Amino acid sequence: MAKETIFSKIIRRKIPADILYQDDLVTAFRDINPRAPSHILIVTNLIIPTVNNVTTEHEVALGRLFTVAAKISKQEGISEDGYRLIVNCNRHGGQEIYHLHMHLLGGRSLGPLVV
Ligand code: AMP
Repeated sequence: MAKETIFSKIIRRKIPADILYQDDLVTAFRDINPRAPSHILIVTNLIIPTVNNVTTEHEVALGRLFTVAAKISKQEGISEDGYRLIVNCNRHGGQEIYHLHMHLLGGRSLGPLVV
């Protein structure tokens, strides 16, 4: 069993969050420090620490991140103008929470990806 994370506590409703969607594989909630008008995190219910830990067994849950991103982008009214999906990995990727998640950002022009 992987070590509990802030996100696993949100998934199990042990700490509060603005949850928009949950199923057996993923949970989506608003980022506590939004960097865009819509900033939503879509998290695997299973604690996968980073993309480096991904295996073929995770492929269904990882695919679900995208179908839920598409669904929520429509709910947020940002699908036509567009949005950005980001997955950070480890220190150089700027990862803060070691529980695999996708950022869905939109509601304004995000400009080019600056690195
Ligand atoms: P990352 O840098 O990819 O690991 O992103 C972690 C994200 O989690 C950041 O954008 C934080 O603002 C967000 N975050 C941290 N704690 C919480 C929380 N309790 N509820 C919602 N979002 C959070």
